[in-house]
Amino acid sequence: MAWDSIATIARKVQAGEITALDQVTAAFKTIEDKQEFSAIIATLEDRALERAKIIDDRIAKGEAVGRLAGVPFIAKDNFLVFGAETTAASNILRGFTAPYQATAIERLEAEGAICVAKANLDAFAHGSSTENSDFMVTKNPHDVTRVPGGSSGGSAAAVMLDMAPFALGTDTGGSIRLPASYCGAVGYKPTYGLVSRSGVVAMASSTDVIGPITKTVDDSALVLDVMSGLDDMDGTTIPAEAAGYIDLNGDLVGKKIGVVKEYMAEGIAPGVRERIEAAIEQLKAAGAVVSEVSLPSLPTALAVYYILCPAEVSSNLSRYDGQRYGHSYKDAKDLTESYKKSRSTGFGKEAKRRIMIGTYVLSSGYYDAYYKKAQTVRTKLINEFNDALSQVDFLLGPTAADVAFKIGENTDDPLKMYLTDILTVAANLVGVPSINIPVGSVDGLPVGLQLMAAQRQDRALLSIAKKVEELQI
Ligand code: GLN
Repeated sequence: MAWDSIATIARKVQAGEITALDQVTAAFKTIEDKQEFSAIIATLEDRALERAKIIDDRIAKGEAVGRLAGVPFIAKDNFLVFGAETTAASNILRGFTAPYQATAIERLEAEGAICVAKANLDAFAHGSSTENSDFMVTKNPHDVTRVPGGSSGGSAAAVMLDMAPFALGTDTGGSIRLPASYCGAVGYKPTYGLVSRSGVVAMASSTDVIGPITKTVDDSALVLDVMSGLDDMDGTTIPAEAAGYIDLNGDLVGKKIGVVKEYMAEGIAPGVRERIEAAIEQLKAAGAVVSEVSLPSLPTALAVYYILCPAEVSSNLSRYDGQRYGHSYKDAKDLTESYKKSRSTGFGKEAKRRIMIGTYVLSSGYYDAYYKKAQTVRTKLINEFNDALSQVDFLLGPTAADVAFKIGENTDDPLKMYLTDILTVAANLVGVPSINIPVGSVDGLPVGLQLMAAQRQDRALLSIAKKVEELQI
């Protein structure tokens, strides 16, 4: 079934027109019917049905139930959630159950939302296609021979397959926006720190953010509104804007939009370029003031990301030593062998690759040559973004250089896979909010427009995104 908007579902549940139990049951039915897409790692039947009944009981008694009452959702399997294992799609976490829940999940549940399933991802969120999952490969809802993008590919596919009205993803270098682009969803990466990372499996802590994947901007905005803001459990969190993120009321007229020159350079597929240029024309016709801006260091962003990200990954993955979480190698003769064997049998290829690269760039012999230099260029990028965003309100470009690629096409060539992130990583390095908005398709495969704003301008960005959505490009 196709879902109403999140606000409508909650309103109808609150009014007693529909029940939370029916919503959850409908979600499970679709998940079951669409198993062939391999979007879901685990379902949370017992817990979800129990929560739905509690909500319906409260409504029957006239008690308050929250503004997401009875709305089913799906969490990427790197969120700590009660009711199923949390694996991050890695063998090393098999058998691990959460001792507490992620703050984002707690906040959604406090408003009556119900987590029904955990979505597939590239193991530990390392990847751009969901092919790095240790468990299964998720298929693109528009073409089962193609990838859904990654690493939140299960989440994006699940939303487009109507398994739930919204899903949560994480975005360290593009993992919400890229699958949203490939699957034709709205994917929102908030300002760094706007949503607590507490209870989410860490990838690269200085760029990790949490955000929604939905079919509409309003739905993403409502989910963000519920999840955002300061959290004692994450010292990097920032307060939400006073106006919050609902009742968006932006106007395109007079808004200054900078088309990023480096994002429209060679390498963009002709069909994608045509859709982005069509969007630019429509924005102009709607009254936006569109100009070209240049961020000269942007071509270095990918190299910077693939130094800093593995460095942080190698550090964050050191906690999985076979003693504390999930998988532990059974026949080790002593502790040292247990560490070695647990890690060598538990981690997949990509995690190992990143541990090696990260350890290398952080080693005393190469720290100055790689890690320190990358941090210097990161600062340069931040300065260039700040300059550009003092001249224009928003930055624009494609989210991905091409439409979804074929399953298996890039798996033998990690560098080629890394190149798919070329247009998304900068927003993470700089910490600015960024959104993917679908702008039509090429041969039946969705194309995504990327808009970015200055840090803490999430409300303005969502407001303008809603206007762009209304243009139905
Ligand atoms: N594709 C990027 C990577 O592999 C980004 C992943 C992410 O955002 N989690 O690192």
